[in-house]
Amino acid sequence: MLSTNKQDLLNLPIKDFIISSEKVAHVQIGNSAEHALLVLTRTGYSSVPVLDVKYRLKGLLSIKMITESILGLERIEYDRLESIRVDDVMEHEVAYLQITDTFKRALDLVINHAFLCVIDEEGTFMGIMTRRVILKQLKRYIYQLET
Ligand code: AMP
Repeated sequence: MLSTNKQDLLNLPIKDFIISSEKVAHVQIGNSAEHALLVLTRTGYSSVPVLDVKYRLKGLLSIKMITESILGLERIEYDRLESIRVDDVMEHEVAYLQITDTFKRALDLVINHAFLCVIDEEGTFMGIMTRRVILKQLKRYIYQLET
């Protein structure tokens, strides 16, 4: 989608730019840290959304959060992974977007986050908006200004 005017770009609805939930790797709050580490390692993502059984967004989980939780004094205690649950180590307070938000709000928030989770009015996870997608739109807009 092209926008020739700054306000048009800032007012674009984010729903046109999200990676939809079916394509987003996630873990569930009750999963073990072992399972979550497998998901993160296999997908290659440094962090993924955490959802509950009703598909509502509950937080984010990264490899760093898991490894920090099993750091012993002299060794990494891998044997503890099975007994730690995702909700013991995840980040609960996360920045997110509502599906009705505009590109401007996404731009403001994405400065500090590689991606943002998108939810609907009931808190149901709809997908993510990545910094990559936002930068692509900005690049198209800036290059258009030059022509
Ligand atoms: P990217 O813009 O593709 O580099 O993605 C930035 C970050 O967004 C990744 O490191 C992941 O944490 C997250 N991400 C992107 N795509 C997905 C996906 N399909 N499933 C889960 N997380 C994703």
